Amino acid sequence: MKIIVCVKQVPDTNDVKWSSENTIIREGLINIINPYDEYAIQKALEIKRINPDSTITLLSMGPVCAKEVLEYGLSLGADDAIHLCDKRFSGADTAATSKTLAYAIKNIIKDFDIIITGQFAIDGDTAQTGPSLACRLNLPVLTYVKSILDTDSGKIVAKLDAEDEITTVEAPLPCVLCVLKSKQEVKNPSIEDYIKAQGKQIKVVNLEDTGLCAEEAGLKGSPTFVQRAFRPEIKRWCKKVKYDYAKEILSYVREENGKEI
Ligand code: FAD
Repeated sequence: MKIIVCVKQVPDTNDVKWSSENTIIREGLINIINPYDEYAIQKALEIKRINPDSTITLLSMGPVCAKEVLEYGLSLGADDAIHLCDKRFSGADTAATSKTLAYAIKNIIKDFDIIITGQFAIDGDTAQTGPSLACRLNLPVLTYVKSILDTDSGKIVAKLDAEDEITTVEAPLPCVLCVLKSKQEVKNPSIEDYIKAQGKQIKVVNLEDTGLCAEEAGLKGSPTFVQRAFRPEIKRWCKKVKYDYAKEILSYVREENGKEI
């Protein structure tokens, strides 16, 4: 089984600063692997445990520092990694991101059975990249994947957990899975795991290698842009009542809402 896991480096902070193009200024931020992508690697490792001949290739589009999440993923047990690293990839929206990932998969990786993405990235949080990637590669996609039950006989059987409904579905391979957190915690890599990971390959790929032209990638290739980013104002209020008198509270809430409860 040839598994590709898409991983994104995200800022681990609430103190996000914005450029004039409304993209995140990543300099000076502490970066982490998107937690859902850690779960994606975990799911790939689960498949590998059942099918020991499987290989796991990590794929990330991001600046030079995104190498850190690939190194971390390799220490968790992935076999190799591809880093899409080129200034012309920066500022990509989900359309340009999925297009770049799709081109890299088609033109560089070529052969695969399963692509696993996180369900969301905690910074952009659109949840569009996985389904959009599937669409570009003309593959079936399973979203909200909680657990993988079976990968035999050319299909995958998975348990999905969406909007309070748990269902079991199957899809033919190759396909794309967008995954949620597993029941098990991700096991922290040991020093030995990190040492082993140093011997694994991270292939750095630029725009030309993907087969894309500059107009199709990054900010230039993005049909959407973030017009404004702001933290919503959360208004909380508090009124102290002398005793826990339900009537007084009720009449206050009625007055505030201007309607009967
Ligand atoms: P999601 O679609 O939520 O990520 C799902 C999964 O896709 C990830 O778990 C990961 O497996 C994979 N993935 C995502 N990005 C990468 C990557 N670079 N490399 C490898 N795998 C990846 N773009 C829009 O098109 N529309 C918007 O409304 C929008 N709003 C944004 C708002 C904010 C606050 C920010 C910071 C960005 C926004 N963007 C938006 C840009 C968007 O974050 C990027 O395009 C990003 O590369 C992909 O989208 P996402 O972060 O929403 O990922």
